[in-house]
Formats: sequence, C-alpha cells, structure tokens
Amino acid sequence: MKHKIIILVLITVLFSCKDETKIDGKLNVVTSTTMITDLVKNIGGDAIHVEGLMGSGVDPHLYKASEGDVTKLVNADIIFYNGLHLEGKLVEVFEKMGSATKTPIALGESLDKNKLIGSEYFASNYDPHVWFNIDFYKQFAKKVSMVLCEKNPENAELFRANEKRYLAELEKLQDDIKGAIENLSPEKRILVTAHDAFNYFGEAYGFKVVGLQGLSTATEAGVKDVQKLAEFIIAYEVKAIFIESSVPKRTIEALQEAVKSKDHEVVIGGTLYSDALGNAGTLEGTYLGMYRYNIKTIINALR
Ligand code: ZN
Repeated sequence: MKHKIIILVLITVLFSCKDETKIDGKLNVVTSTTMITDLVKNIGGDAIHVEGLMGSGVDPHLYKASEGDVTKLVNADIIFYNGLHLEGKLVEVFEKMGSATKTPIALGESLDKNKLIGSEYFASNYDPHVWFNIDFYKQFAKKVSMVLCEKNPENAELFRANEKRYLAELEKLQDDIKGAIENLSPEKRILVTAHDAFNYFGEAYGFKVVGLQGLSTATEAGVKDVQKLAEFIIAYEVKAIFIESSVPKRTIEALQEAVKSKDHEVVIGGTLYSDALGNAGTLEGTYLGMYRYNIKTIINALR
C-alpha cells in the first residue's frame, strides 16, 4: 500500500514539473518487456532513445514499477507495452498516466480480438502471451513504425526502411521454424513448462501446451496440480519438460520428482525464454534469437 502511495504521489509531482526539452532532439521511448524493447530498437535504430523497464529474467506478471521507472515514464515521449493485462501491476501506473498528457500504447490491444486465445483468468479475457504468434509480432512492428513516423516525421524514411528489413527477418524466421518443426512428429509435440506462456506457439505449430502454473505466475501451483500433470506426462510418454527463464525452476523440479515417485522418468529439456528474453548481447537476448533458441531446445529434447 505504501509503495502504491509513493508511486501515485510521484506521478502527480513529476507531471506537474515535466521538462519538455530534449537533450539531443531524439524521441524518448520507454518500453515494458524485453520483447517490446527489442522490437522498438529494431524499428527506431539510432534515431530514438529506448529505455526498457524490465530486464532479462524479469517476470512481467509480477513486475512493480519502481520510483525510478515512474520518472522514466513521465519523461517519455512514447510508451509501448504489451497490454491485455500481461503487466498486471504496471497497469495501475499506466491508468493513472492515461488521464495526463499521453496515453501509453498497449500493442496487444490493437490486435484483432477474434484471433486471440480467450482466458477467464485475465481481466482482459485474453491470453496476453501474444508475441509467440509471429504474425502478431509483425503487427506490433507495423504499429510501432506507424507511431514513430507520426511522432518523428523527419526520420520516417529510416523507420519504414527498418520496418521492412525487420519484417523480412521475421518472415525468414517463420520459414525456418516451419522447416525445423517437421523434424518432430506430431505425437511428440507436447510442451510442458512452468506456466502457460506458449498457447500461441502451440496453436501455430501444432503443440499441445500444458503449463504447471496456469496463465499467470501470480498463482502458485498446488500439490494436486503437480500430481495431475505428472500423471499426464506418464500417460502421454512425454520425454522432457522445460524450465522458464523468468519463473523459479523449483516448480518444474517438483514435477520431475513427482514423475519419479511414480516410477517413471522425465528429463528437464532445458530453459526456455517465455515472458522475457535472455541477456543483452547474447543470441537469446533478441526476439529472433530467442525464438530460434527455443525451437532448437524443444526439438532436441522431445525428438
Ligand atoms: Zn506469462
């Protein structure tokens, strides 16, 4: 509660003394998740400043804005976030800001709702892990490019060129995945992870997806969930289960133990990047690299 009050007071104070001058004339863009940060950097290039609030390994469902974040948000020219209630606790801050000078842009909200996977768990009524549908991520790229062009027409040509290049790379990624996935027979396409982040991935590539913690990490898995999933793994002869980089690995280890206690074996197939990319500067630190890494890890472990 105290945390909340400090943040709200900060927003009010900072908004009333916002300094409009920019150091070098570049747009100041603030982003939430690493997936969106990477995307905006790809489109904006050197023409903008991008500041991502969440780092690698950070769980957006649980993320709370710090006082430093609020200052960044207030000084931003544009704010991009996923929306669909992915960033459950950041939304309170955004809602407060919406009434002020700028409206943060929820990229997920601009997608065709008829194409989204429904969920009763989230206040949005949709599964927010939309970036795993590469077509949706392409739409994010187009939207980001459009907004940047509007706000900074002098650099519009650059933004459009970057958009075109990045869309081509995403297209290539889709082709490569299609080819790679053929190496995994359909009955082996069962993905068991810490939480339900991969429903859009499953839909795109024919995987049955089961998350131990449901759609959000805000609720912990109970003993019953672990036992039920252990039985499922045995019944479907699932070879491997996966840790997620932004969720503590103990839940998946508990699941492995539960399978073992029933005289069966399942291996931990590696760590997947779900709600956050890997460290900056590594292959997994970009969206393109993350997707390639996940695909390789999944296919190697389940084959
Ligand atoms: Zn998630």
